[in-house]
Amino acid sequence: MIKFYIMTLFPEMVLSGLHTSIIGRAAAKGLLSIEAVNIRDYAFNKHNSVDDYPYGGGAGMLMQAEPVYQAYRAVKDRLEKKPRVVYLSPQGRTFHQKMAEEFARETELVLLCGHYEGIDERVLEEIVTDYVSVGDYVLTGGELPAMLIVDAVSRLVPGVLHNDVSAEFESFQDNLLEYPQYSRPEIWHEKKVPEILLSGHHANVEKWRREQSVLRTAKLRPDLLERAELTEDEKRIADAVRE
Ligand code: SAM
Repeated sequence: MIKFYIMTLFPEMVLSGLHTSIIGRAAAKGLLSIEAVNIRDYAFNKHNSVDDYPYGGGAGMLMQAEPVYQAYRAVKDRLEKKPRVVYLSPQGRTFHQKMAEEFARETELVLLCGHYEGIDERVLEEIVTDYVSVGDYVLTGGELPAMLIVDAVSRLVPGVLHNDVSAEFESFQDNLLEYPQYSRPEIWHEKKVPEILLSGHHANVEKWRREQSVLRTAKLRPDLLERAELTEDEKRIADAVRE
């Protein structure tokens, strides 16, 4: 069971996106919970505003420290221990599958979404434990990145995927991409499903899949292969693609 607390100015955006399909069903079953904490509820002025001009000038507005801090306190005070607080930021470490596995071991995870030009540095220094980016581009807010992280982490929580095997071998595991997959019909647009997959010979299917993973990774993500553990045969397969 993992509890996500998403601190945001747009709670309806994250909740409507995450309460659908597999993650929504997992939440309904109580395998995880997703709570949106509306930072605007902690505005401390009569206009309900949570942003202001940055000192020193420059374009755009900045989210102020106090509403973010009070929203965080409201979450923290309900928890037994200080939670891990992830600030979604283009300046953070780039999110990847290993990080998803690490987050999936937490019982609580707070995700802080910035908006406008970001958040006053002082509150970040005080509450944030991890700075995480979803890639080298700039978005308007941290909501989509937070949803992406909740999705990637949730599917690693036991019971969330119907068939636990479907999380067993997947892209990025062992630094390899997943092999190609096929479903019915056997022939589609004159393309036939590889014979070996129809053979019922489990060991040969596994061998073929592993080779396909190596081939595919060599073609599409050669950078990953440098960190993969390959047999001598597999190295030859990969080298043949790269030549
Ligand atoms: N001024 C900031 C900078 O240059 O680093 C960018 C602010 S961005 C317009 C507003 C918010 O969107 C950020 O506070 C962050 O929460 C979120 N955001 C934007 N791009 C992101 C990315 N690549 N990964 C994670 N969060 C991102």
